Amino acid sequence: MVKFMLKIAADLKNLTNLQPQGGCDDPSFSYLFKLKCENCGEMSWRETCVSLDHAVPLRRGKGTTNLIQKCKHCSRVETVTMISGQGKPLIQEESEAGKYAPLMVFECWGYEPVDYVFGGWWKVESVEGTKFEYVDLSGGDFAEYDKEGGCQVIISNLRSTFDVLK
Ligand SMILES: [Zn+2]
Repeated sequence: MVKFMLKIAADLKNLTNLQPQGGCDDPSFSYLFKLKCENCGEMSWRETCVSLDHAVPLRRGKGTTNLIQKCKHCSRVETVTMISGQGKPLIQEESEAGKYAPLMVFECWGYEPVDYVFGGWWKVESVEGTKFEYVDLSGGDFAEYDKEGGCQVIISNLRSTFDVLK
């Protein structure tokens, strides 16, 4: 088992606290990424979707996982299990310092997660306190005018990484 921490970064103009719509442990938030098989090296051709509220029982032993999938190339059965409670919103100070915010941990057996896609609904707030909900980042950026705060708000330069947790 290898644990991968998904971390995100973005340029936040007049914005802070970027996170999934229901918070970092949003049970219905969908995580989309590709899977690389560690056994044969084959990469999935399209994104897999996992969420905390979709649990499947493990065949052997106790407990559940979030994805059981057979590699199409080598037929090995591999799993992805989400570990909640590790995520933090991306705040403006960290964004300006070029830092990444941890979002979710994926414990993988046989797979390596790659190429995260910013799907699902996000929420963020302006530095003036105006809340923006159900933000769609799938197009790669977000731009609005904060009428109450009187400033332009922009999310751009979205980046992500899967770091191996030791
Ligand atoms: Zn394989």
